Amino acid sequence: MIRKWQWELSVLIWLVLFVVCISLIFGHLSILLLILVIALFAYQIREIHQFERSLRMGVIKDNRKARGIWDEIYYQLYKIKKSEKRRKKKLSKMIDRFRKATDALPDAAVVLGKNTELEWINKAAKDVLGLKKSDKGQRVANLIRSPSFVNFLAQSDFSKNISIISPVNENIILQITVVPYGVDQRLLIAQDITQLKNMERMRKDFVANVSHELRTPLTVLKGYLETLQVMDEGSAPLYMKSIDQMCEQTERMQFLVNDLLLLARLETQEKNVDCVNVPELLHQIYHEGDVMEKSKGRIELVCESMANLMGDEQELRSAFTNLVVNALNYSPEDTIVKVRWKKVADKACIFEVIDQGEGIASSDIPRITERFYRVDVARSKKKSGTGLGLAIVKHVLVRHDAQLLIDSELGKGSCFSCVFPQQRIC
Ligand code: ADP
Repeated sequence: MIRKWQWELSVLIWLVLFVVCISLIFGHLSILLLILVIALFAYQIREIHQFERSLRMGVIKDNRKARGIWDEIYYQLYKIKKSEKRRKKKLSKMIDRFRKATDALPDAAVVLGKNTELEWINKAAKDVLGLKKSDKGQRVANLIRSPSFVNFLAQSDFSKNISIISPVNENIILQITVVPYGVDQRLLIAQDITQLKNMERMRKDFVANVSHELRTPLTVLKGYLETLQVMDEGSAPLYMKSIDQMCEQTERMQFLVNDLLLLARLETQEKNVDCVNVPELLHQIYHEGDVMEKSKGRIELVCESMANLMGDEQELRSAFTNLVVNALNYSPEDTIVKVRWKKVADKACIFEVIDQGEGIASSDIPRITERFYRVDVARSKKKSGTGLGLAIVKHVLVRHDAQLLIDSELGKGSCFSCVFPQQRIC
């Protein structure tokens, strides 16, 4: 660049010298200098005009006709344009690759704007959600009309996901997840979970069918064993012990089958919603507990509130009974089990069962609501449980929008609280 400026300057000096020489012969130095300035000015104007035309038409070539500084300007600009072209090509290749990758994705991806309007979709979104490129700018809730989806968007709580039936094919079940990103933008992902749901349904059906089919043979078995128990009084002690144990185990299996059937019902059936008189229900449970020989006089019931709950009475009875029976089972026979029904500061209603039993280690607490999870297998086997009680409690509470809180200390006792939200109170 500096060399070009030097060249430009030396041309100017030579021209001035030339004009001075001519003026020495013919005189009129100032006129000749003026003519030179005008000529130079005209030359620059012509170059600027050409340069502006090249810029306007976007044809910047490595203009070899230009001289001096203009040659350099054309050359530098040509270089910038060339590298920009290379960058554009690279970028469009990247975009192309990204588009191909997103189109190959089995999950539908939709970019939503600030007001949940459609900004971009991939191929799967067209196939499973029925969205089109021409829908761009429209609110997604106007395009996917499933009520649960519309509610989900309106609530704006995207920490959870929902399942909907595909608007295009009713045999496809989609799991919708919304992830916020960028400034006010959201990425909606729809994943085909049909197979997963079918497998889950098959598992539930299998457990329900097996449990149902086992019921009759177990009743027959139990009936014969009970008859044998009565008939063979006075037989060999080993024979009697075997019959007693068979009877006990058959009974255990019957409890298991009943609990499995109840769980299957909780997973598949609609609940009967009614206004349940909880204080009355708790008094019934209290009396049932009092009838049991081992728990006579051990339950202390306090109904601090007379609030009732919207829900299924049978389900609530089963959840509350499970918690009370557990408290009685897992605490010494000379201790009291406190059962409370209370309202907290005009908000939630809480059903609480407090015992002074063995307690549960904090590492076991997150797992005790899993099916068949028993804390100390040897200890639990001595009690006639199925390992399904707390799983039933959890399912019932989920169906009633409630929460199960467990507070326990080893050797001191446990407190199981069922927290029902205010909107459940009737
Ligand atoms: P189970 O039929 O064995 O009682 P649950 O699902 O009701 O099955 O309970 C799971 C496990 O949690 C029990 O085996 C027991 O070890 C523990 N557990 C439940 N309730 C209590 C309690 N009140 N105190 C101590 N441990 C308990």
